[in-house]
Amino acid sequence: MITFRAGAATDTGRARAVNQDSLLVVDGRLYAVADGMGGHRGGEVASALALESLAGLAESTTAALVNGITRANDAVYLRSSQDPELRGMGTTLIALALAVDADGQELLAMANVGDSRAYRFRGGRLEQMTEDHSLVESLVRQGRITAEEAVTHPQRNIITRALGVDPEVEVDSWELPAVPGDRYLLCSDGLFNEVEPATIAATLAERVDPDDAAAELVRLANEGGGRDNITCVVVDVLDGPGGADEPVARVDTASEPDLGAYGPATAPTPAVPAADHTPALIGALPDHLPDDEPGGIPTKHRRTRRLTWRVLIFVVALLALAATVVAALVHYGRDTYYVAFDASDRVTIVKGRPGGFLVFDPTVERVTTISLDDLRETAVERVRTQPDQATLEDAEVFVANLCEALRADAEPSECSGTDGTAGNTTGQPAASTRSSSATTTSP
Ligand code: MG
Repeated sequence: MITFRAGAATDTGRARAVNQDSLLVVDGRLYAVADGMGGHRGGEVASALALESLAGLAESTTAALVNGITRANDAVYLRSSQDPELRGMGTTLIALALAVDADGQELLAMANVGDSRAYRFRGGRLEQMTEDHSLVESLVRQGRITAEEAVTHPQRNIITRALGVDPEVEVDSWELPAVPGDRYLLCSDGLFNEVEPATIAATLAERVDPDDAAAELVRLANEGGGRDNITCVVVDVLDGPGGADEPVARVDTASEPDLGAYGPATAPTPAVPAADHTPALIGALPDHLPDDEPGGIPTKHRRTRRLTWRVLIFVVALLALAATVVAALVHYGRDTYYVAFDASDRVTIVKGRPGGFLVFDPTVERVTTISLDDLRETAVERVRTQPDQATLEDAEVFVANLCEALRADAEPSECSGTDGTAGNTTGQPAASTRSSSATTTSP
């Protein structure tokens, strides 16, 4: 009779905002870790949904465990296709379960999809039991890059297989003898990307209590950087019929992806494979998306902010230029004067431009008592050319000068001094003749 003692720990880590990992401990028979991926809520939902589905596993056989994972795939895929917000979500899944073979012999069944891992710790030695369904591990398995190159490979976050992204999923599965004293570690990549295998082994040797061991491994991963969610489930085999000399039997292995376009790590690797030789990286997806890491201020966001400042400065400069242009136009259209005859042929000082300028219509500043008939022909001509007067004072001087060009019989009060405006060099018009409100258009 196989008996276990298990402990577990999970943590968001130091860079991510949410924990998209999930773990399952159905004590005495089933243990699992799932590492979800997908923007917003996707990753959390995928990993939780997969393990919820797996927890319903009733039968204890290796085939049942694989079926359970296939059903979990269905559940995640269905949910993903029903909810646009969750589209494209997926999860890894590593599971260890108590199983009984055809002869009624108890053993351990293990199944894996993705790049979470199972390790076995036996006699002080740590052994990785699963193969990562990741691009770099496939390249290592195919002898195209070395294990050392894989550690720093720019595409080490690409996984080639995940649960929930396709209607079908291929599952790796194994059968192992249940050997008393063996310790299994199920974990997400947040652990082994931060903690060296030797340190993991030393911790599993040192920390006897499985909960304690799991918590210490999580702490070490955070100490190492904590760049991803970290989940560890430690399962001790207390009792079981297996012997240490019994082999591990591989039951099913997912097919290797065709990595045709991915050259050795020493050659440039395309970020996106060229269309004409796209490899069959079915289900390949990064194990995290930009949305997953608000804690780390992704480069993209920094760039957006810089761009916004640049745009802001540009807009301010543009507004300043526009204001200058408007001020110049207003000045040109409104802050000048001219002298003309009004409808009843009176000499009139007008503010603005003859005929108006843009939206600025000219407005009457002052109607004088000089009429067209009072003026000699040359003076009439001078008025008719409507010369610009830079200021109101200039316009008044122009009008005063007209008094020098009167016909012999003309005696307008403007020029006789009877209304007090003649020779008015200050340019201040008489209030009685002022008609500032004649036509009112102000800018
Ligand atoms: Mg992860």
